[in-house]
Amino acid sequence: MASSKHIIIVGAGPGGLCAGMLLSHRGFKVSVFDKHPDVGGRNRAIRMNGFSFDTGPTFLLMKGVLDEMFELCGRSSEDYLEFMPLSPMYRLVYADRQLSVFSDRENMRAELNRVFDEGTGGYDRFMDNERNRFNRLYPCITRDYSNLASFLSLDLIKALPWLAFPKSVFNNLGQYFDQEKMRLAFCFQSKYLGMSPWDCPALFTMLPYLEHDYGIYHVAGGLNRIAAAMAKVIEESGGEIHLNAEIESLIVENGSVKGVKLQNGEHVRGDEVIINADFAHAMTHLVEPGTLQKYDRQKLEKREYSCSTFMLYLGLDTVYDLPHHTIVFAKDYTTNIRNIFRNKTLTQDFSFYVQNATASDASLAPAGKSALYVLVPMPNNDSGIDWQTHCQEVREQVLDTLGTRLGLTDIRQHIECEKIITPGSWESDEHVYKGATFSLSHKFSQMLYWRPHNRFEELDNCYLVGGGTHPGSGLPTIYESARISSNLISKKHRVPFKQINPTAWLKKAKA
Ligand SMILES: Cc1cc2nc3c(=O)[nH]c(=O)nc-3n(C[C@H](O)[C@H](O)[C@H](O)COP(=O)(O)OP(=O)(O)OC[C@H]3O[C@@H](n4cnc5c(N)ncnc54)[C@H](O)[C@@H]3O)c2cc1C
Repeated sequence: MASSKHIIIVGAGPGGLCAGMLLSHRGFKVSVFDKHPDVGGRNRAIRMNGFSFDTGPTFLLMKGVLDEMFELCGRSSEDYLEFMPLSPMYRLVYADRQLSVFSDRENMRAELNRVFDEGTGGYDRFMDNERNRFNRLYPCITRDYSNLASFLSLDLIKALPWLAFPKSVFNNLGQYFDQEKMRLAFCFQSKYLGMSPWDCPALFTMLPYLEHDYGIYHVAGGLNRIAAAMAKVIEESGGEIHLNAEIESLIVENGSVKGVKLQNGEHVRGDEVIINADFAHAMTHLVEPGTLQKYDRQKLEKREYSCSTFMLYLGLDTVYDLPHHTIVFAKDYTTNIRNIFRNKTLTQDFSFYVQNATASDASLAPAGKSALYVLVPMPNNDSGIDWQTHCQEVREQVLDTLGTRLGLTDIRQHIECEKIITPGSWESDEHVYKGATFSLSHKFSQMLYWRPHNRFEELDNCYLVGGGTHPGSGLPTIYESARISSNLISKKHRVPFKQINPTAWLKKAKA
């Protein structure tokens, strides 16, 4: 049944698109606005000279969550997307050894035995114990915490011991693994949240657990196809997507959001406004100073944010023998982490990640060529680093390091085209506050009830989706934010909707 209520969504990133697809399927009138000419936000495609890259996300974890979002729209994700499970999932490169990481236990045990000498008993305990933790915590993470009553629920209270507060992921892994290098294989995933494994709360040990138990996926054409598929569902359901349409400000009247003002001067009024633009950017740029208290500019400035990334997208006229995903650890990992998060300085010995997706998906580059994506974690813009000055110097260091650590010594002569995104350009061009690509840090005091609420606590008729709100950064949790906000809006307007228990996919995946 169609609803006469009009929902405006600021931003066509994964969160905005997922909310748009759920709400348009439920009959709401949906209008999505994005400043870019393409949908997807940090999940959109970069296309150059016949090469195609994902801007940001390249690992699809918890595919079942994405499947559920399509199911809630009466569709199957498989009708829109071709999923490719990866085995091995990725290769880890240390200064003195390499480890291929598998999601099937037999291969993983064999590989751990080949590379380390402490046996696989710790790995087995890790899998069993972290499965218990995940099963207890996940239902709590997918709930709405827009009010204190929902926060103080019995199931969360029961799950509290599993938070292992105040342990970090690195410390938590000490109960399973003796050698630091073995722990690194199961804690570098803290970087998915832009955090140091020494600071990232132990509950996020669920990230490596999820990879090992449920695997990771590539999507044919790149993960950006997910954003395109969601946009298609919105349009099939009668929603509108306006591109090249930057929102200048929210229209706020008596503490309530009534619509948006576009940069071209147009005013669009609606019944609810969902903000998908980076939370801290939106609150510092789309809202008049003096409107907010808890999240005013000074308080936002003092919050803690994730690290940033230096990105190099290379269209190459050759194909290197590299797996789909390679993670290279700095020779001195702890100093690199300290330089990113504490000292906020550049460093010559850095960890980095390389995606060579052409290894499993030939559609991403012309025949005989390849599309290489290089991500180097960097300090966010609290560093004060002038990226105009340092961009080329860092590019040269990254190319040199691809040579010394991965053997791509002739890479310079194979570059046909390239694009760079620095922490500076994440902020200036992509509207990411402080260039903190993984949003507000996921430390305890900025999680659950303490993260900006999905029903925004400071303005009426205003909802949040995306990495800066609950449950947090990462595609599956961002889709969950869209589910929570869409359900809150549907309940408010008494629009019936299908519900699926957020843990149903876990059973399905193992069936
Ligand atoms: C380099 C990188 C790698 C990542 N890798 C992974 C990964 O492998 N797996 C994973 O699960 N997650 C990953 N992530 C994290 C996360 O999944 C992505 O960042 C994701 O795109 C964030 O989605 P979002 O919904 O918060 O919105 P965003 O992607 O940030 O989109 C917000 C949108 O709002 C628009 N916008 C902003 N201001 C305005 C305005 N004023 N008017 C109109 N539009 C506006 C922007 O143009 C943008 O399109 C990665 C992130 C980065 C940056």
